[in-house]
This record gives sequence, C-alpha cells and structure tokens, in this order.
Amino acid sequence: MHTESKVIWDRCLLYIRNQVSEQTYQTWFTPIVAKHFKDNVLTIQVPSQFFYEWLEEHHLSLLKQAVRQELGPTGKLAYAVVIDKGNKRQKPLLINLPTYPGPAPRSIPALASNNELLQLNPNYLFDNLIEGSCNQLAKSAAQAVAKQPGETAFNPLMIYGGVGLGKTHIAQAIGHAVQSAFPDKKIVYTASEKLTAQFIEALRGNQIHSFTAQYLTVDLFILDDIQFLSGKEKTQEFFFHIFNHLHQLKKQIVITSDAAPRNLKGLQERLLSRFKWGLTADLQRPDFETRVAIIESKMIADGITFPSDLIYYIAQHVDTNVRELEGVLISLMAHASLGKQDLNVALAQQVLKHIVQHAPTVEATIESIQQKVAASYPISLEALTSKSRKKENVAARQVAMHLIKKYTAHSLKSIGAYFGGRDHTTVMHALQVVEERLQTDAHYARLYAAIEEKIKCKQ
Ligand code: ADP
Ligand code: MG
Repeated sequence: MHTESKVIWDRCLLYIRNQVSEQTYQTWFTPIVAKHFKDNVLTIQVPSQFFYEWLEEHHLSLLKQAVRQELGPTGKLAYAVVIDKGNKRQKPLLINLPTYPGPAPRSIPALASNNELLQLNPNYLFDNLIEGSCNQLAKSAAQAVAKQPGETAFNPLMIYGGVGLGKTHIAQAIGHAVQSAFPDKKIVYTASEKLTAQFIEALRGNQIHSFTAQYLTVDLFILDDIQFLSGKEKTQEFFFHIFNHLHQLKKQIVITSDAAPRNLKGLQERLLSRFKWGLTADLQRPDFETRVAIIESKMIADGITFPSDLIYYIAQHVDTNVRELEGVLISLMAHASLGKQDLNVALAQQVLKHIVQHAPTVEATIESIQQKVAASYPISLEALTSKSRKKENVAARQVAMHLIKKYTAHSLKSIGAYFGGRDHTTVMHALQVVEERLQTDAHYARLYAAIEEKIKCKQ
C-alpha cells in the first residue's frame, strides 16, 4: 500500500515540478511524504499545521490538478499533519484533514529577496571574538553550526550567559558565517522583543498567514534573548510552531538566553523541552588573561596603544563582563582626548571611580585590616582592640571599623565582637564619625586613603 501511494505521489510530483519554480518545489513539495492510498484517496504527510495551511491556500488547485490527473475525477487528497515529532517511545501524532475549498488565494506582500533585511552588526564576527575558557564550548559549537547549518547535533543551539558576555556577538557571527558560505540560504536574526512586536502587528493587520509564511522558508533562524518571550504566550505558540516546522525540515535554529533553560520562568514547558534536543552552551565571565586579550584586540581595532600596566590595571578592576570592559576603554579614550590627559593608571583610577559601581573585589579579613590600620598609625594591635579611650587609639579603632564594614561582609555586631566585645551601637557611632571626618578633614581623608590602598593591594 505504502509503495503504491509513493508511486502515485511521485508521479504527482513530476507534474507539480513542471508547474512551479524550483525554489517553491523544494520548499513546499519535497518535504511531503506519501502515507497511504485507499479508496482512491491519497494521504500525504506534511510537517506542520502551517505547512498544511500554506499548501491549501497557495497550491491547492495545483495539488488538485495533479491528483485528478493521476487518479481521475473521483481521486481525493487527504493530509496527515505531524503535530509533534514525539519521542522515541511515543509515535508521532497524526491527524487527517480533508481538503477544504479554502479561501480564494490572497496575494501576500512580496517577500524581501534573500537576506535583504538581515541586519547584523559588521563587527560581530568569529574573527573578532576572543576565545577563552569562558566561551570555548559556545564558540566551537557555533562554528560547527555555521559550517553545516542544520546538519549537526547542535540543533537547536542554545547559548546562555549573563549580560554583556557575548551572546549576541556569537549568534550574529553564525549569521555572518552562514551568509558568506551559503549565500542562498535564507537567514533570519531577530530579537524576541521585536518578534513579539511584529507578531502583534501581524495579528492586528490580519496578516498572520503571510507573516508566518516568511519564517517557514528560513534556513537559519536566530532568536536572540528568548527570555523576553516569557509571559508572551501567543508569540511563544507561534515560535513553537515555527520551531517544530524548521526542526523537522532540518533547518538550523539558534537561541540565546540570559538564563539557563531550567530558569526561564514563564516559558511553556513544551517549548523548554525542545531545547533539550540540541546543545546548550553557557558563557562565563572571562578570566584575567582573556580580559587582557580582549583589551588588546579592541586597542588594535581602534588603532591605539595603552601602556601594559594600564592594560593590566583595567583587566584587574573590570571583571564583570565584556560590555563593561568596552565602556571603560571608550571612556578612557574620551578622557584622554578631551582633557589631553595621558593614558595611564592614574587616569584609569579616576575613570573607574565613575564607571565601576561596585568596589573592586578585595580579599580582606578583619584581622588583616586591623593589622594594617594598627601598623599605619602606628599603635599596637592590642591597643587597637582594647577598651583604651586614648584619643589616638579611638581614632584608629574607628577607621578600622569603617574599613572592615566596607571590605568585609561582617555585621556591626560581629565587628564589635572583634574589638573587645563592643556592641553594635558603638560600631555604628564609629562609622558615622569617620564618614563625617572624611568630608571635613582633608588630612584625615588622605590618611584613610593611604590605609585603604594598603588593604586593596594584596600584600
Ligand atoms: P550579550 O548579548 O551577552 O549581552 P554582547 O554579545 O552584546 O553580549 O557582547 C557585549 C560586547 O562585548 C559586544 O560589543 C561584543 O562584541 C563584546 N564581546 C563579548 N565577548 C567578546 C569576546 N570574547 N571577544 C571580544 N569581544 C567580545
Ligand atoms: Mg545580547
């Protein structure tokens, strides 16, 4: 039976192929599988509901002609739509749909020719992406995908990582690479927010069909920042169908997210479960050496040179993400060009004060701070932690408490305990006194800053 249906369908295909463009034929007819033939009804299997609707709307008369030619006037066509690929244990679910007369073919806006609308940042290339252990897996998976879109096991490829760690860069690098290696492939890069907005727009304009159709013929679909689909149920639904359709046709899907799939709140389970089909690669914060390499590469790109101590200083102090690193570099260059200042560590210190909101990470303990404060005044460690009311001891003690509060996570109570069992109100009072004096007493502020420097440098 199966072979009979195949023979009939193959003959239909021969007929159809002569009537449509090769592109249309490849997109809409080769994915169809003949299922069975019974009572003069030929059942064909199509990859998705959208696919079915598209055929009905655009190629119904052609299909009818083909079937009539092969089976005579009583010949009929039925569809089996793959609703879900199913997993290994569960068989794919099929539903049969009779052909319906369907609305008169409506003309849809002509689709932009291949990749005309593809907007990629020209700098987001693999060549400009510094590799480190932080992004190795993601980068090599992305490169593999770009070489053979849809052909690797990495489908979908899901890249996740915090803000500014290079998700968009990698995703677009795939787009660039595919575009130059396979100029005929249709590529879509879109951010989730944009997709949602366009989807709503299409709903409003009653254009869902043509809107959807554009995505069904895509060879590489890149969806950036999928976390913004959370709570957008209709758009998720839409994406789910596109996803299934493209995946079924072995088209490549790339997704980025700022959270691991399991932490993507507000995304439907069935969508999340799809991501397990491919590879999930995470991006970490770059380590010191990678940060140095990134700074150097950006310098080369901008045609400037920083002294190496400046590079190390920046790499040491800006350790959150690459975007922030770039921000600091731009700021430094701006300061240097505006104020005609030299690009040096002093300038970097000044710039970082404004840019980096968090205090640089300093590994300090109560004991080490106490030691440094005592040595600076100088008084003995015993005097520092004693109940002595001598003016100098009190002043040193207050500074020590302030610095401890600033550089450790100890509570007021715990700090008090390290100073001869004082209570938290004493510590609170000390913090206030220091804050006040820092504002009003320049000499005191300098002394404080000098001690602080010693705490920041690790020795
Ligand atoms: P995300 O999308 O994860 O928030 P982006 O891809 O926008 O991050 O990256 C932020 C900036 O940092 C971009 O300008 C990007 O080019 C740059 N960047 C990120 N990672 C690297 C890297 N490994 N090498 C060079 N530049 C990088
Ligand atoms: Mg991004």
